[in-house]
Amino acid sequence: MLVIQNTLSGKKEEFKPINPPHVSMYVCGPTVYDYFHIGNARSFLISDMIRRYLEYKGYNVKFVMNLTDVDDKIIHKSKKENRSFSQVADTFTQAFFEDIEKLKVKPATLYPKATGHISEIITLISNLIDNGFAYNIDGNVFYNVARFKDYGKLSGKKTDELEVGARIEINNEKLNPLDFALWKKAKEDEPSWNSPWGKGRPGWHIECSAMSCKHLGDTFDIHAGGSDLIFPHHENEIAQSEAATGKPFVNYWMHFGFLNINEEKMSKSLGNFFTARDILAKYPAEAIRMFLFQTHYASPLNFSEEAIQAAQKGLEKFTNLVDKINSELSAPSQAAPMTDFDFPTFYSAFESTMDDDFNSPKAIAVLFDFIKEVNRKITESPSLNSGFYLKTKEFLEKTAIGVFGITSFEKEVPASSGIEDKLIELLLSIRATAKKEKNFTLADQIRDELLNLGVAIRDTKDKTLFKKV
Ligand SMILES: [Zn+2]
Repeated sequence: MLVIQNTLSGKKEEFKPINPPHVSMYVCGPTVYDYFHIGNARSFLISDMIRRYLEYKGYNVKFVMNLTDVDDKIIHKSKKENRSFSQVADTFTQAFFEDIEKLKVKPATLYPKATGHISEIITLISNLIDNGFAYNIDGNVFYNVARFKDYGKLSGKKTDELEVGARIEINNEKLNPLDFALWKKAKEDEPSWNSPWGKGRPGWHIECSAMSCKHLGDTFDIHAGGSDLIFPHHENEIAQSEAATGKPFVNYWMHFGFLNINEEKMSKSLGNFFTARDILAKYPAEAIRMFLFQTHYASPLNFSEEAIQAAQKGLEKFTNLVDKINSELSAPSQAAPMTDFDFPTFYSAFESTMDDDFNSPKAIAVLFDFIKEVNRKITESPSLNSGFYLKTKEFLEKTAIGVFGITSFEKEVPASSGIEDKLIELLLSIRATAKKEKNFTLADQIRDELLNLGVAIRDTKDKTLFKKV
């Protein structure tokens, strides 16, 4: 029996999906204005692990992760870089997909974008206005928090206490300091869409209500995200969705703990800010996954190079066994006697830890015990039949690979020349600087010598492309 710690009730509850074997799951995705950082990576990898374990249990999971592709941060960046907001969003949407693929995240069923759901958002806001839960002031539409009696039920916050805190940033346009924007009136030079309240764009919270409802229905099984989203984002999602439909929004709310760097909060100003790209340049995805899954998803997690190196070291035990199985199974099978090995006990130990609110650190400990026992068996009886190795392989495929993605039976291909491409990019950026400074001798020298090395370059309007010839 799978139990989940539900933020809404504050208790562990038996998981009962609405329509088994189907499970509907929504996770708040990235705002695509930059490369995502290791804290975001934790959210993406933990939700990937949860989804994979639900699939291990035989559920058919519809997994939806939204992409916020219009937002203050995107607009700010586009102004700073003198590009359109959609160019910025496209660049970092692309980067997001590249990075999650490198992290071996199983693709979601759907990645809906906010800008692709403007009409659903407008319909939802109109519904809230018609039912008295929202009001329009001069083209800005706000949610009327006082009208929703359950406000605060997820975060446990009381509205009167919240109001005191919120008064610092009092906004004269709103009836109540806790009211939040559903529709933001267009400012000059900002992206906007037509609406019954004039040109504008959606607020952040309403996107998730509109997209989850469209793709998963009025009530769905699991909504997950970082614990920093509980208030106000998820509280506001509940207020919007339940006011609009009159039905419970989500049955199980799951929240992931914070990630700190060397015991400090990660921040650009402290200089301890790591993107997933930075970490992937130094460590394989399997080591990053192992590191993240060795702490329970709800606990705070401290990131350090030592911790990730320790996780990587632990993975050697998996790799060694995988190599052994590969070589045994590629050799002609021997007529060895059947081996007794208690696979069912390991399966049930694995499942009972994961059934207890996805306790991945304990489940990984079960996998280490399994490897130890298998190795002991191999040392004791050198000629084991291939059935034993096939069952060992199957166990690892279902657990370590299927649920955690921390090892693989596929032959490692030599690392693609990532560093080589980076060096070429570096030379091209030096060449671009040389051209700007009218140092054409140096620019041409770089071009010619790259060609001698078999790298042809081509200048386009925006950038220089290269091809290995
Ligand atoms: Zn959300």
